[in-house]
Amino acid sequence: MSDYLIKSLVHDGQLRAYAIDATQTVSTAQQYHDTWQSSSAALGRTLIGTLLLSAASLSGDETLAVNINGGGPVGKIIAEGNANGTVRGSIQAPHVKLTLNKNNKIDVKNAVGTNGFMTVTKDLGLKEPFTGQVPLVSGELGEDFTYYLAASEQIPSAVALSVFVNNDNSIAAAGGFLLQVLPDATEEVIADLEKRLEELPLVSEMMLKGKKPEDILDVLFGAENVKILDKMDIKYECKCSKEHFAELMATLPKKDLEELIAKDQGAEAVCHFCNKKYQFDEAELTAILEHSYDK
Ligand SMILES: [Zn+2]
Repeated sequence: MSDYLIKSLVHDGQLRAYAIDATQTVSTAQQYHDTWQSSSAALGRTLIGTLLLSAASLSGDETLAVNINGGGPVGKIIAEGNANGTVRGSIQAPHVKLTLNKNNKIDVKNAVGTNGFMTVTKDLGLKEPFTGQVPLVSGELGEDFTYYLAASEQIPSAVALSVFVNNDNSIAAAGGFLLQVLPDATEEVIADLEKRLEELPLVSEMMLKGKKPEDILDVLFGAENVKILDKMDIKYECKCSKEHFAELMATLPKKDLEELIAKDQGAEAVCHFCNKKYQFDEAELTAILEHSYDK
């Protein structure tokens, strides 16, 4: 079963709703980075949030990057998304497993920390990228994405991000939703939504019971109120290349490149997003050095 995202309008356009099954995507990330429980949940939630935010706000070739740095033991988390439903991400400390919190859930708040910021950078094809930054208000990340949308983009929203991790660190379920209140929304619709959100079980728990993204929207709003607009495939994808790493190598100080050539007769670059390794031999490094510094 492959992952997908549903885009919908609710109550004749009073709300916009996105729901996603990202189980395979988060599993791929878990395997690439060998994440343990708390790191899996933190990275997984960031990937799901990035996919939802990308689907809700990008089109064409636009991309965005989410940076989370809360000062907690997992360190920095990065995720990059686009309008086509692919995402990649990395986490500074993959091997974090804290004891469960008082609700018997993975303690994402203390793994991520609340002493820092969430930063979203959007490349919309303009001269300057758009950057929005908010302090981490929760560390659980769903609330942080919600706060980001309200504070930085002035869109009243609700974001739920949920990852269920098995005892062997594999991913049992990962998903979420993003709801946006549109200008025509009535007080009754908003009040009803708030009540339903309070009563809603965790997304990953609903998914473990067999619920799909469209089922979750039906539970939230009532099937008769949901109009599905689009279904988009989702996957983890890294588009790194040797050329990209050669460009990065070219930004190294001259003496570092000379040392790699003289001492190591080559270099290996490892992609932080997919662990792919790229080898550069002496001749390739020499070419990079000459190209970068002999102009
Ligand atoms: Zn890569």
